[in-house]
Amino acid sequence: MAERPTRRTPRTTRARVVRKRYLSPRMIRVVLGGESLADFPAGAYTDHYVKLLFPAEGVRYPEPFDLAAVRASLPRDQWPVTRTYTVRAWDPAACELTVDFVVHGDEGLAGPWAVRAEPGDEVLFLGPGGGYRPSPEVDWHLLVGDESALPAIAASLEAIPGGAPARAFVEVAGPEEEQELSLPPNVDLRWLHRGTARVGDRLVEAVRALVFPPGEVQAFVHGEAGWVKELRRHLRVERGVPRERLSVSGYWRLGHDEDGWQASKREWNARVEAEQEGASEAPDAGVPAGPRGGAAGH
Ligand SMILES: Cc1cc2nc3c(=O)[nH]c(=O)nc-3n(C[C@H](O)[C@H](O)[C@H](O)COP(=O)(O)OP(=O)(O)OC[C@H]3O[C@@H](n4cnc5c(N)ncnc54)[C@H](O)[C@@H]3O)c2cc1C
Repeated sequence: MAERPTRRTPRTTRARVVRKRYLSPRMIRVVLGGESLADFPAGAYTDHYVKLLFPAEGVRYPEPFDLAAVRASLPRDQWPVTRTYTVRAWDPAACELTVDFVVHGDEGLAGPWAVRAEPGDEVLFLGPGGGYRPSPEVDWHLLVGDESALPAIAASLEAIPGGAPARAFVEVAGPEEEQELSLPPNVDLRWLHRGTARVGDRLVEAVRALVFPPGEVQAFVHGEAGWVKELRRHLRVERGVPRERLSVSGYWRLGHDEDGWQASKREWNARVEAEQEGASEAPDAGVPAGPRGGAAGH
């Protein structure tokens, strides 16, 4: 049974791998199912995410798993390690939750777990969290991401309301990583091939070169923290996009695992805010960051 969530002990769900397939050489789709998903509360946001729980090295937790008890009885370095993944799709009728994993080599926990995952394997996770969905109140939408944000961008593009125009840029390693997506009319999705360039360079170039359509934009910008910071600056300072129309955050950071990145993320975000909001000529500069106007809170 799912644990009743509280502020201190978020909901823990126990699921099993139902099936898995490669969408492309570097992207694996894992479909999870199981009884405790029955009342899974996804749907409010298109960037819903879960936090997969991996046991700390050498630690076995008593069954049934109880996160509150683990946190109360063990030192922090023995708590489960978390990895954050977008809910690419949630099908309440079939009780199936779809997660797409970037395969980024042998390093790490979650990427290699997805490579090894087999039907029947068990996984525990927290969530969902989330904070963005395309607003019906803007004139157009801009979505920008590397492959880690492709699941959220694809889910968001599928939910663009009222035929509003959307421009999306997704950077992937090469043409073999492009996915067939079924998108509403007025969505213009450009695939950018990284090749040997630094991650995100092509995205920054493409958005800098974009002639913005007239009217108010809502922007969703996620992926590796370095390029996300650069593009946030461009959108806030040079284009004057109001912060409440920006959902922007580093989903991962080159050279850091998720534990290291999460530990420094708050400070990183505060520094970005201080640098860029000081430089912004936009009329709302100085307004305290909301959960989405600054960095998303994951
Ligand atoms: C809200 C949110 C939603 C996310 N959704 C998704 C999603 O749907 N799919 C997805 O694949 N990722 C997603 N991510 C990113 C994912 O959480 C990180 O990539 C995470 O670090 C992967 O964990 P790991 O155990 O595989 O690697 P880690 O142990 O965290 O890192 C090991 C090494 O791999 C590097 N690395 C990590 N991720 C990547 C990458 N994508 N490309 C290249 N090198 C990398 C690290 O810098 C480190 O050097 C999301 C992140 C957030 C915050």
